[in-house]
Amino acid sequence: MSVSGFSRPEFRLWPTLETPESLKIALDAAHQSNAAAVGFYNYGHLHLSALDRIERQTDRERRLRKTINGTLRSGAKNSGDRLSSQGHEEETELYDLILKGGRVMDPAQNLDAPRDVAFTNGKVAAIGADLPVDSARQTRDVRGKIVTPGLIDLHTHVYWGGTSLGVDADPIARRSGTTTFIDAGSAGAGNFAGFRKHVIERSVPRILAYINVSFAGIYAFSKHVMVGECGDMRLVHPHECLRVARDNLDVLVGVKARIGAKAGGNSGLAPLHLAIEVADQLGLPVMAHIDMPPPSQREVLNILRPGDVLTHCFRPFPLAPVHADRSIREEVLAARDRGVIFDIGHGYGGFSFDSCRAMMEQGIMADAISSDVHALCVDGPAHDLLSVMSKFLALGMPLPEVIRATTQNVAKAIRREDLGTFAVGAAGDATILEMRNETVEHVDVVGQVVRSDEQLASSGMVIAGEWWPDPQDA
Ligand SMILES: [Zn+2]
Repeated sequence: MSVSGFSRPEFRLWPTLETPESLKIALDAAHQSNAAAVGFYNYGHLHLSALDRIERQTDRERRLRKTINGTLRSGAKNSGDRLSSQGHEEETELYDLILKGGRVMDPAQNLDAPRDVAFTNGKVAAIGADLPVDSARQTRDVRGKIVTPGLIDLHTHVYWGGTSLGVDADPIARRSGTTTFIDAGSAGAGNFAGFRKHVIERSVPRILAYINVSFAGIYAFSKHVMVGECGDMRLVHPHECLRVARDNLDVLVGVKARIGAKAGGNSGLAPLHLAIEVADQLGLPVMAHIDMPPPSQREVLNILRPGDVLTHCFRPFPLAPVHADRSIREEVLAARDRGVIFDIGHGYGGFSFDSCRAMMEQGIMADAISSDVHALCVDGPAHDLLSVMSKFLALGMPLPEVIRATTQNVAKAIRREDLGTFAVGAAGDATILEMRNETVEHVDVVGQVVRSDEQLASSGMVIAGEWWPDPQDA
């Protein structure tokens, strides 16, 4: 590798470095000379090779330091040497990363102020007015930006390649700052293993899922082929759903049922009843989607339990939450009072500016803002979570509430309160946002337009304590 100032690698040897103090001196010397170092412990002797000139505070330096420390610790362990314990303590005091000087908005802690956020071992380690830069292996200057706990999209479809409606989470995460995708029932018992192995486990952005009560998951969903997975009750088997759900509890947040004339044909409420049975066994909530009656919205809302999620809550007619005179339907208010969680689920059929305005004017906002991003709405009208968030800003929702509906409230809905907050010990996820002066004509699912001049844009993210995407991988 050719880096300015060094035309070729420079090698140095310290054959007799045997104490942590001398190691530290060697490391400092390597850094003083802007050289990266790789150490290895061999027959009690330390050899340091300076490899390449690098800048301080880069990811590469951090990695090399980790390599050095890891190697030395294991070397010391193997030789039973006393030397490493001291060095180990010193290293664990360091933060892996500090986000410096941003406007930190963490609704879960009622925080909206300039702060630094530090991460260690994949978790939030500290939050403070002026954390010392020297205490971190890496620092990112985020002054002028908004720093929020990692955004969570409660309703997505990211079983890319395994289902026709799935989109690839990676590019959407990068452009929208979404650190956690909740897949809303793309996979059922029959294909959950593939979703887990080929998508969830390979993904850097977190993916958690509602399992579809239908064995097949959402298996036939395209512009020309649309067959509802709950239209044939032979596919809706509670034993299979429960068995596979129990095998995947670490990535599962609930059970999804899509009902209504489109997704459920003549099955009526039966798939939702069975989903609730399964969810009850698991101690988890259901997420219910209704498209076209029957059943009626009243029938659906009446059987949802506190903590269950109604998605597409601000739909256009039919099944809008309001009457023609804009008054809120009684069953909607009753469900809300009972603790049913309201989720936006924009998608290509699930969100109307009119319904939303009517609800907001009467003091009712959805708990969760989500995109329902899938193959047929990723290029509009939903786009991604950030685009839907900008729509809510355009409708007059205050920014801290928009952030609450994509962090704290979602974490609560999925019962993962280690997410969606910068509380010390929480998952080390963050989204760095900026407000851009850009005029956009936002469109809802019935083609109504709302124009606004300020849009949220993502300028980076941290997942499990690491800046992502890693510059080395870009
Ligand atoms: Zn959906």
